[in-house]
Amino acid sequence: MPVKPPTIIIDYDRCKKCLNCIRACTAFEGVYEKGEDGYPKVVRPEYCVECLICHLVCPSNAITHKNYRETLVLDLSGLPIERYKHIV
Ligand code: SF4
Ligand code: SF4
Repeated sequence: MPVKPPTIIIDYDRCKKCLNCIRACTAFEGVYEKGEDGYPKVVRPEYCVECLICHLVCPSNAITHKNYRETLVLDLSGLPIERYKHIV
């Protein structure tokens, strides 16, 4: 059963448009993309593996994750969006 992805919130009042988060996220095709306004957008939250590297590289502490999956297991037989499944 696919797991609901985490909720990823970017505080655009704090964001400096450095785009470190986009460069740092290596989850599949990436969780973020640059929007037309120059700010990062969360476009593929289902790919997030909750490594929190984006938090580390953000100079303004603008990123928040909510609703973590508690336990993950990799199922290579599935499509990318369905690779992570709850086992708890
Ligand atoms: S926590 Fe990791 S996988 Fe998720 S958006 Fe941040 S860098 Fe990408
Ligand atoms: S790393 Fe932080 S400050 Fe830089 S673009 Fe991403 S959210 Fe904005």
